[in-house]
Amino acid sequence: MIRFENVTKTFGSFTAISDLNLDIQEREFFSLLGPSGCGKTTMMRLLAGFEEVTSGRILLDGQDLTGTPANRRPINMMFQSYALFPHMSVAKNIGFGLKQERWKKRDLQDRVDEMLALVQLEGFADRKPHQLSGGQMQRVALARSLAKKPKVLLLDEPLGALDKKLREETQFQLMDVQDRLGLTFIIVTHDQDEAMTVSSRIAVMKAGKLLQTDTPARIYEHPASSYVADFIGNVNLINVELSGMEGDLALARWDGGTRLAIRPQPEDVMTPGARKTLVLRPEKIHVTKDRPAEAHNVNMVEGTVEEISYTGSASTFLVRLDGGMLIRAQEANRLLTSRREVDWNDRVWLSWRAGACVLVDA
Ligand code: ATP
Repeated sequence: MIRFENVTKTFGSFTAISDLNLDIQEREFFSLLGPSGCGKTTMMRLLAGFEEVTSGRILLDGQDLTGTPANRRPINMMFQSYALFPHMSVAKNIGFGLKQERWKKRDLQDRVDEMLALVQLEGFADRKPHQLSGGQMQRVALARSLAKKPKVLLLDEPLGALDKKLREETQFQLMDVQDRLGLTFIIVTHDQDEAMTVSSRIAVMKAGKLLQTDTPARIYEHPASSYVADFIGNVNLINVELSGMEGDLALARWDGGTRLAIRPQPEDVMTPGARKTLVLRPEKIHVTKDRPAEAHNVNMVEGTVEEISYTGSASTFLVRLDGGMLIRAQEANRLLTSRREVDWNDRVWLSWRAGACVLVDA
């Protein structure tokens, strides 16, 4: 539905978007994720028509959008600040764009009612924005941005002003609205958990380029680089040197000389002597006081617990290996016994299966 084709955007001598290609399908909930200044908002502004591309083009349903002004694109943008008019009622705020387009009074009223029902704010039509909670203001802003039924809604940090719990509830409301209306949503967020929760696909950006575009699960389980792995969730990144294959497992050594077994992906090239980075998620590592049973496809190392942090559903352990490396491991607290067993300064074994880690270029 949407195609960025070799899109470059420069501001003076600064390149904000660099020869970028991206396809977004109809009805996707698509996230742009990346550090501050990587070009996420610029991508949105180009799509909405607030900026023109320097080179390349953007297509919508196969039509080149170049030269089409913002108000002629079936695309709307919702801002983090909500930008509600403080002196206008909720109903007037929602109907503002329709009124400007001189909608008939009856139709306008019907659409405003429909939008109020959509965001579950029936009964709030006559309130002013200052009489609403943050979550309700967010829903008015959403209703207003959907009132003209755009094909595509761009959401720039739509939940940034809400506290954690409300934010999580509102994520599900957004997903529900998107699904019910069958629209394409593109969201910019700083919050990786939010991107993982709401998105059908995520694009991870860095300095005006796309590093990886994939489903949340693929990005988490099979990051294309150590940067992406580190950007999404917690991770141990361990430099290793490949030593060869043994059956279907790759063998590698890390700094301390410890031998590791890794189950490679079909696309991995396993050249002996090559230096790679091992991506090992904390929750894939088991922490035990007793030495686990020896198995050819299980890795194990010994160390000392330096920190334990308990967060209700899980406990995280920082374990100093005898070679000096610090490893982060996480156990779900349904395994309460293993957590209780382990204390600060205890000697523990960390173990993980060969298939639980991924290799990326060093
Ligand atoms: P954040 O997460 O902080 O909002 P972002 O990824 O959305 O960041 P953009 O707002 O797209 O980043 O900006 C990308 C880069 O382009 C930044 O370095 C920014 O300073 C620069 N930039 C954006 N708009 C302009 C402009 N109008 N003039 C000059 N530079 C700009």
